Amino acid sequence: ASGCTLLRDPRYNKGLAFAEKERDAHYLRGLLPPAVLSQELQEKRLMHNLRQYDVPLHRYMALMDLQERNERLFYKLLIDNVEELLPVVYTPTVGEACQKYGSIYRRPQGLYISLKEKGKILDVLKNWGEKSIQVIVVTDGERILGLGDLGCQGMGIPVGKLSLYTALGGVRPSACLPITIDVGTNNEKLLNDEFYIGLRQKRATGKEYEELLDEFMQAVKQNYGEKVLIQFEDFANHNAFDLLAKYNSSHLVFNDDIQGTASVVLAGLLASLKLVGGALADHTFLFLGAGEAGTGIAELIALEVSKQTKAPLEETRKKIWLVDSKGLIVRSRMESLQHFKKPWAHEHEPVKGLLDAVKAIKPTVLIGSSGVGKTFTKEVVEAMSSLNEKPLILALSNPTSQSECTAEEAYTWSKGRAIFASGSPFDPVEYEGKVFVPGQANNAYIFPGFGLGLIISGAIRVRHEMLLAASEALAAQVTQENYDKGLIYPPFTNIRKISAHIAANVAAKAYELGLASHLPRPKDLVKYAESCMYSPVYRSYL
Ligand code: NAP
Ligand code: MN
Repeated sequence: ASGCTLLRDPRYNKGLAFAEKERDAHYLRGLLPPAVLSQELQEKRLMHNLRQYDVPLHRYMALMDLQERNERLFYKLLIDNVEELLPVVYTPTVGEACQKYGSIYRRPQGLYISLKEKGKILDVLKNWGEKSIQVIVVTDGERILGLGDLGCQGMGIPVGKLSLYTALGGVRPSACLPITIDVGTNNEKLLNDEFYIGLRQKRATGKEYEELLDEFMQAVKQNYGEKVLIQFEDFANHNAFDLLAKYNSSHLVFNDDIQGTASVVLAGLLASLKLVGGALADHTFLFLGAGEAGTGIAELIALEVSKQTKAPLEETRKKIWLVDSKGLIVRSRMESLQHFKKPWAHEHEPVKGLLDAVKAIKPTVLIGSSGVGKTFTKEVVEAMSSLNEKPLILALSNPTSQSECTAEEAYTWSKGRAIFASGSPFDPVEYEGKVFVPGQANNAYIFPGFGLGLIISGAIRVRHEMLLAASEALAAQVTQENYDKGLIYPPFTNIRKISAHIAANVAAKAYELGLASHLPRPKDLVKYAESCMYSPVYRSYL
């Protein structure tokens, strides 16, 4: 190829890192200034430039530019500076990017499938340049992070998630496909925005919605086969549970908001047992919020306790209680409950507020998943602390402004006794001379390694046993040194190693369940997972 083509292709471009001999061999002479920089030096320069921007969105845009200019350098940056850059390519900054997607839009980073493409979805898939796809992340934009309906502008989410699949899980960038399904939006602001990039109509629902999704799911299977992973992302809960249930028996599907969240939170709970003592079965759980996150986590806890104690699921669910916007979920509300809440309607008199629910249920673990901030008040945390020597408090709602309480509040109000983790990151807190480091229950711990495990085993279906395997693998990565600081999650710096361990455990489970198609089974699955991971280091073109 000509030098110009090489420089324009983000997959091959190395910028100033092309060596003298490569410049001769590939017609690059004169197209580059004389200096030859190493990838390390390019990285140093870019990080320096990024840190000059005060506005997070500008960092995001600079990173997206880099991804479109020099893919390997983008991933090298992301991998080597994961703690610093994760909040930029993913939550919280990606949320702002989605809100302004119409005005910052430059190039298609993924596929748009709208109602206009009905009947032609297979052809649309064929328009995408890459033929061999391993992971699709798809959204319909109805519940983007905690920001609500962003319609077609939700595209930032599949793009961001897939860049983490590559950076943290080592899935090849060319094997990743971001997709946004556009059935309209109910967001008035977007409908009236002259720069809006999506369909200008109210959301299609019912049969029209179902048919489009069904055509999409069939087309994906026809075009990419049985082993392509389809991750549903940021669908509203009135569709999310149904889609997962509907396609779980015919496709390799995974919902990160339900299952990924559940797996990462269960990992934190398993790890926290080292600090609070006892077995998972000894605990009583109370949730504030009974949506995708809350009921997803609740179900996986019940499944893990069943696995450990051999007790039936109907029994193990009984120590798990949820509060929604109408109060404690109890038997007398059964008739009017959405179906995903019904398993949690236990026998109890009605209870309205969270504080009364804490007093009535006497939980050892309190989990916030309602999306509403400041709901773990001083009274609630004090009630938890009077009931428990070491109350476990997880404030999962995002972004930071929606957190149920801050890390500082949890440690102060519990007089340093709480074990605390949150959805959004908090800085370490000093309380009476001791430093507490709050953990972050970030889904990015689980889904990249989980997906890698499915890929390397050639799994054709997702089963809850695989989610439990992922949780157990993550919990096992927490070291004594982490525990000494009160942490129930390992630091992100080792995430590629952590992902390899998760992948290995998930793959092992896929083989055990007879759902793996990659045969024979590699002996050392951790080593194998590591050997499959994409490396962003430049290759020589000589
Ligand atoms: P969702 O499906 O919309 O569920 C929200 C639930 O909260 C619903 O059950 C709702 O009750 C309940 N709720 C709303 N306002 C309430 C109030 N004032 N009092 C009591 N309950 C209330 O949302 P989701 O997907 O589960 O996400 C919820 C939150 O979890 C979001 O902030 C999200 O960012 C966070 N999250 C964190 C992580 C993580 O930390 N890794 C992962 C996923 C999600 P009704 O059913 O009665 O409407
Ligand atoms: Mn999500």
